[in-house]
Amino acid sequence: MRYWIETLGCPKNHVDSDKLAGLLVSQGYDLAASAGDADLVVANTCAFIEAARQESIETVLELADVRRAGSRLVVTGCMAERYGDELADALPEVDLVAGFNESLTALAPSTPVALRRRPTPAFDLLNLPRPATSAPWAYVKIAEGCDRRCGFCAIPTFRGDQRSRSTSEILSEARALVAGGVHEIVLIAQDLASWGHDRRRGALGDAVEVLDEGGTQPLIELTRVLSQEVERVRLLYLYPSGLTSGLIDTILETGVPYFDLSLQHSSRSMLRAMRRWGDGERFLERIAAIRAAEPDATFRSSFILGYPGETEDDQRHLLEFLEAAQLDWAGFFTFSDEDGTYAHDLAGQVAPELALERLREVSQLQDRITAARRDALVGTVQRVLIDAPGVGRSVRECPEIDGIVLVDPTLRVGSFAEVEIVASHGTDVEGVTR
Ligand code: SF4
Repeated sequence: MRYWIETLGCPKNHVDSDKLAGLLVSQGYDLAASAGDADLVVANTCAFIEAARQESIETVLELADVRRAGSRLVVTGCMAERYGDELADALPEVDLVAGFNESLTALAPSTPVALRRRPTPAFDLLNLPRPATSAPWAYVKIAEGCDRRCGFCAIPTFRGDQRSRSTSEILSEARALVAGGVHEIVLIAQDLASWGHDRRRGALGDAVEVLDEGGTQPLIELTRVLSQEVERVRLLYLYPSGLTSGLIDTILETGVPYFDLSLQHSSRSMLRAMRRWGDGERFLERIAAIRAAEPDATFRSSFILGYPGETEDDQRHLLEFLEAAQLDWAGFFTFSDEDGTYAHDLAGQVAPELALERLREVSQLQDRITAARRDALVGTVQRVLIDAPGVGRSVRECPEIDGIVLVDPTLRVGSFAEVEIVASHGTDVEGVTR
């Protein structure tokens, strides 16, 4: 029996697909050469915004076209969890629409396939083993769900409240990855900085001990422990109020001074309307404090343009903030009106064309800043991890989302090399082995 998994969306979904692959392999499945060659075809979908949903549907329809007669087509992931019944009705070509929990049950051979939907999965793929990776880095998802309720975000409605994995579960996954050749672990969760808080509330054991020993934030101790196991630990999606001074110090101590701050806007009124913490002034203070401790620190963030009520003043505020912050990397998205969110009924909806115009304006500015920050690396020496022939990454570049360091293609994948940066090409830089 052969399987094929098509994955859409964010790194969190890719980790789920890895785990699903691990489950299928443990049941005797082999990876097929293509979707058309598989007995079981799985689409792991994304429901984050409208564009992602469109892409997911198109992918499912393409898979339905190429699948061979007699194969099973399963749709899982965020769209299946959020729109299970409607999706099953709308896509008769699909054999099963199921959240992760249901996928596990349905893909076990003895279990009859049933179309069901549970709004909050009781069990995720989090603790399943995963197949060996060919890249020298890997995502590790340390929690599922989110306790926050940001105005624009529907994730908590279908992924539920936060459920953190235990330190020992995370450690054993990290150790298995390291044994398989991984040198960099990228920690992900919907709200990474809050990892462990639910376990503390539930008094479930080891995270409570971690908390008592490590101060106030469980992630501090987890990051320390993991950095003893693997050369690089990188933290993604840090909610800004969770970036405590203890966590900043810990990140700097790991030797990967990379700060992925989920800021979303700089205008205070916008952030309050988004039901989020902070404002541009506080963000700048925090960035300055980090740069004072580590001038080489790298910053990434993402922002939403065209949230209901956004004015020209808010846009100006964001432009000024970006100029002042001099972030290395930033992603911009236009607001997507999601059912079931606080923002859905908010007055002052911004016309999509205007939101797009604002997005272009901030992107242009940020492209210039990013290019200048990359130019400034010329003449420096960077230690890079070789991800693929000719492709390296220093601690400044997160896999898959940031630029890369172009290197000598004969450098061995999985090795480290010291390179001098000799040229810069927008987001990528060129390094010559010393
Ligand atoms: S912290 Fe992230 S996942 Fe949680 S509600 Fe806010 S945007 Fe959504």
